[in-house]
Amino acid sequence: METTSSAGQSPVRPVNRYGPLDTPPIDAEEARRGLGAGRVAILDVQPAERLMSDRPFRLRVAFVSDTPDEGVLSVLVFWDGTPFVVEKRIAAADHDRGHADVEFGAEQSLPPGPATFAVGLITESGSQADFTVSVAVLPSNPFDLRLSPRDNFVTGTFSARAVRSGNAYQTNLTVTLSNGDASAVPMRQEFKWEFWDGPIGGGTLVEQGNGRFPDPITVPAHGTWDGWIAFNSPAGTGIFGKLDAKEDLAVQITMTRQDGGTAAGQITVRTMFSFGLNITRVGAESFTAEEYTDLYLAVDRTRVIYERRDVTLAVDRRFISNAQAGGFTVITSESEARDLFEQWSGPDNGFIDVFVVPSISGTGFDGLAGAIPGPTSHNGRESGVVVDRSGYTSGGVRHLNVPYLGMLIGHEVGHYLGLVHVTEPGNLMLSSSTANDTNLNYDPQYRTLIRHGWVRIA
Ligand SMILES: [Zn+2]
Repeated sequence: METTSSAGQSPVRPVNRYGPLDTPPIDAEEARRGLGAGRVAILDVQPAERLMSDRPFRLRVAFVSDTPDEGVLSVLVFWDGTPFVVEKRIAAADHDRGHADVEFGAEQSLPPGPATFAVGLITESGSQADFTVSVAVLPSNPFDLRLSPRDNFVTGTFSARAVRSGNAYQTNLTVTLSNGDASAVPMRQEFKWEFWDGPIGGGTLVEQGNGRFPDPITVPAHGTWDGWIAFNSPAGTGIFGKLDAKEDLAVQITMTRQDGGTAAGQITVRTMFSFGLNITRVGAESFTAEEYTDLYLAVDRTRVIYERRDVTLAVDRRFISNAQAGGFTVITSESEARDLFEQWSGPDNGFIDVFVVPSISGTGFDGLAGAIPGPTSHNGRESGVVVDRSGYTSGGVRHLNVPYLGMLIGHEVGHYLGLVHVTEPGNLMLSSSTANDTNLNYDPQYRTLIRHGWVRIA
């Protein structure tokens, strides 16, 4: 038996608005109309000039405010390494200009590949605004081939997943070619692939072969090209054997430019882990159609947070009616939250119960996990997590705060899976994490959560 490959081209993404979770730019007039006294809004964030690897750069933050308060811009950077923060004070002159440039020096320069900037603005009067944008950092050298998981936007050194499907493993990759040069680069359509046990070139070659993209490839000037490759490894192949033994593999893809130069990239391949969430609306009738939609957008964000760390999640949509829920629609103490777990957890399906309640009030928390880690049973007073649905009203319509709620569900579920609080900037498990704190580290967080009894091979 042999592993086979198939390949295709993916949609083109603008280099300065590169991520699926990026905040859409806001129109200045619209933002001004919506501003209350002392409020501030971020309109857009973009690099002031083309963002090239290993070079200083500036990020331009356009904003409007009702009053020219002093404040602090903080930019949390997710990239192919440990997240870091750069801050800049803003003054009246920045308000007049309508934007401020945050400077990144040589020591804060970035390698080629995606970077996500989570920007927060806090003014002296306490007003806050957030904005997230992702940028493809173009190679200065000037050409780069990079591998990432398929259909998944990542800004760290994560692995590609091999998913078991019947009697085979399917491994999906995204290939990103990026061009830092001012002229387009035509490529040959063929590619060479190698799977290694241990490091590329230094371990054992498990399988190798050649594949071909179906259409001609040209990487635009100062732009990127994305393609996908899917490997099918049936039982009996070397790759199947290694993955089935839960071993990590390394894959390398090599491509050739029409002018003869080659480019190669590598990534770790491992089996994907999965857990389940029972998303339960408590007092279902009190959720508007908008809030219902927003809730599942928030759960999609929770999924992205975990998939960036190679763990996916399944969702069961559940509800408890107003009449059934009684007083549980407003949780006013920890013991009431535990009463909710005791009375409504289950029926058993091996998923974590996530109770989304209209309000948690007077408790000092807006989310609570039953235990760290939570039990692998739906019995007792520890089985579940509860979160406030975290909404707001705009133009008379009730919405949920999707980025925050997605993070909050992820945080409480993180506790259930065994994660404790940390102090690492940008981490999901900060004791008071905000919408932009979504990072999970490999050791110990990934290694801890995959050991929970409700996390299995996907
Ligand atoms: Zn917590």
